[in-house]
Amino acid sequence: MTAYPTLLSPLSLGFTTLKNRTIMGSMHTGLEEAPNGYDRMAAFYGERAKGGVALIVTGGIAPNEAGRVAKGGSVMDTEEEALHHRVVTEAVHKEGGKIAMQILHTGRYGYHDKIVGASNVRAPINMFKPHPLTEEEIWKTIEDFVRCSELAKLAGYDGVEIMGSEGYLINQFIAKRTNNRIDDWGGSFENRIKFPIEIIKAVRKKLGTDFIIIYRLSMLDLVEEGGNIDEVLHLAKEIEKAGATIINTGIGWHEARIPTIAMMVPRAAFTWVTAKVKGHVNIPLVTSNRINTPEVAEEVLSRGDADLVSMARPFLADSFFVEKAKAGKPEEINTCIACNQACLDHIFQGKTASCLVNPRACHETELVITQTKNVKKVAVVGAGPGGMSCAKTLAERGHSVTLFDAQSELGGQLNIARRIPGKEEFKETIRYFDTMLKKFKVNVKLNTYVSSEDLIAEGFEEVVLATGVIPRIPEIPGINGPNVLSYVDVVLKGKPVGKRAVVMGAGGIGFDVSILLTDPGHAFTTENYLKEWGIQTSIEKNGGLGSKETPTGVRDVTMLKRSNSKFGATLGKTTGWIHKTSLEDRKVNQISGVTYKAIESDGVVIEVKGETKKIPCDTVVVCAGQDPNRALLEPLQKAKIPVHLIGGADLASELDAKRAIDQGTRLAVSIG
Ligand code: FAD
Ligand code: NAP
Ligand code: SF4
Repeated sequence: MTAYPTLLSPLSLGFTTLKNRTIMGSMHTGLEEAPNGYDRMAAFYGERAKGGVALIVTGGIAPNEAGRVAKGGSVMDTEEEALHHRVVTEAVHKEGGKIAMQILHTGRYGYHDKIVGASNVRAPINMFKPHPLTEEEIWKTIEDFVRCSELAKLAGYDGVEIMGSEGYLINQFIAKRTNNRIDDWGGSFENRIKFPIEIIKAVRKKLGTDFIIIYRLSMLDLVEEGGNIDEVLHLAKEIEKAGATIINTGIGWHEARIPTIAMMVPRAAFTWVTAKVKGHVNIPLVTSNRINTPEVAEEVLSRGDADLVSMARPFLADSFFVEKAKAGKPEEINTCIACNQACLDHIFQGKTASCLVNPRACHETELVITQTKNVKKVAVVGAGPGGMSCAKTLAERGHSVTLFDAQSELGGQLNIARRIPGKEEFKETIRYFDTMLKKFKVNVKLNTYVSSEDLIAEGFEEVVLATGVIPRIPEIPGINGPNVLSYVDVVLKGKPVGKRAVVMGAGGIGFDVSILLTDPGHAFTTENYLKEWGIQTSIEKNGGLGSKETPTGVRDVTMLKRSNSKFGATLGKTTGWIHKTSLEDRKVNQISGVTYKAIESDGVVIEVKGETKKIPCDTVVVCAGQDPNRALLEPLQKAKIPVHLIGGADLASELDAKRAIDQGTRLAVSIG
């Protein structure tokens, strides 16, 4: 018997059957608008279908110009456009998969000057104000959804997903927050839900009974004047009556100030929301958010929270998630760690999406791993993310690889990162590489500090230096005092920190250390997370917003930095606000524009705006950036051994695991 009996069991939809309970959730990748984008999408989705996912939902495609994500965003409103998609649907069908196209009308979230809305209420996250749709324009928009669905069928899609959540146009009609109309489309709840119901009815009527219609229902808005559970249940029943095949779960609007998919959200933290709808409708329900392993998915399904699980980012991280689960090899799955660094952050920066742990994601046609015809004996020094990814890919290609690290375990700085509360997922990346290094027979030598002489003596043909960084120690009087610790001392070695602490430096590490120092030590559970962020489990009112139970008083922390820029400006686009909010809630003091004068036994003397003052503290934690560790470079160059630098050893500034893994993989593809 399979280890995942519910997850891997088929599901009949009446006219068709899904081969298992997995859906690849909709995610904008940027390929939709990229040059050669359709061929790249075909390779991207085709590989995921081959990897066993039952049903793929594409990134959102607008039904008309007004509904585009931004200027130049994808629209499907002509046959010509539909035919471009054929290559994508054919690639998926060739691998035995099914694919639905998401129809997304962004409404007031569109980033262009032609946006429309249920009303003229501007979104707090958008500078553009929407034009309120007239009655005639509403009916025209419904027709556009129908036309778009027809064209999707022509393009070969098995169905469509009608995007009714995350605060997009349909959701804007449903919520009081964004609908102040006084006609038949506003006012009572019945009037506000007329827009989605008319869309579903019209699409079903036009497309017939053998076409999948998924409706993405916002079950928890997480914004003021959002819906409540009675409204959700009412709408779910109406959606079923109108002819939808499946209901998918949407959690939180984009403007909500509560994290719903980031790493600090516990796994499967929202499946209880879908469970509230279970039993109220007869069509299958999909649950989502932070489901990233087959174990978690199986648990959610076998508990009966939903009939299907949707995972979007986990299929970026590993195309073969389902096949590996089926083969009983879950340890070989490259787990999505919910960092958002290469997927959502890229999209918000206008770049093609990829994946921190899998740089091939959305680059399948360009980053191809082939067998080498020129086998080499290669040394990789340093088993951080850069070294591990390089060694794994080199060995996968057939090279003879030895990976050295001075530490007793794999992971490099990821072993520091994973000790930060809310960053525990990094341990999965280390577990994945550990499994693959064994699978591809890399000779791993831990507890082994290597010198250039060792490498030269062992006759390596090529050497990769993935030796990382050395923490910077600023030259400040008192820096060598007993009250001064580095972030490595505190996070990795667990050295004690007093009740009042100064964190010197406010980059990613300064923020992480401040989170650690103010952490109440609660278990990382859904219950504690829901309390800390004030989410009502009853969803009685106000989009499920309740009052926060912020952990305060753990320690007095002051963060200092020299520059005048805003605190957190260098953090991730889609996650930085979460760290900033947490530290604000925990009353962490932040001072910029600081000149360090001295560290004394009872505090740090600084000058700010021409004034000298002392910040009293028991401990100073230095998080002042790093410099590259290139100690082995010169002797190897002198010995004329081909040597390559990756990750922090190459460039310490703006280093992160994304760059380290990407560089490691790309270098491995280019050797031999
Ligand atoms: P490293 O991870 O630094 O590894 C280098 C390895 O080389 C070490 O294990 C070292 O022992 C070994 N080594 C050096 N010299 C020798 C030698 N001569 N012989 C043998 N072994 C040697 N990045 C993100 O992308 N997202 C995050 O959320 C994130 N959070 C972080 C939080 C914290 C607290 C910290 C400290 C870092 C975080 N990072 C994060 C940064 C990320 O961990 C680093 O960018 C990444 O680990 C750098 O990888 P690397 O391969 O260059 O080297
Ligand atoms: P960083 O982002 O470069 O920040 C270094 C901090 O030290 C800055 O606040 C800098 O600010 C200060 N500093 C630099 N030189 C100094 C000096 N001589 N004296 C005193 N202060 C000095 O580096 P980091 O925080 O060490 O992080 C390292 C890398 O890990 C980063 O590139 C980051 O991307 C990655 N990381 C990422 C995440 C994530 O969530 N994505 C989390 C952690 C780490 P001032 O010059 O203003 O004082
Ligand atoms: Fe998951 Fe991070 Fe990859 Fe995005 S970049 S898919 S969040 S691991």
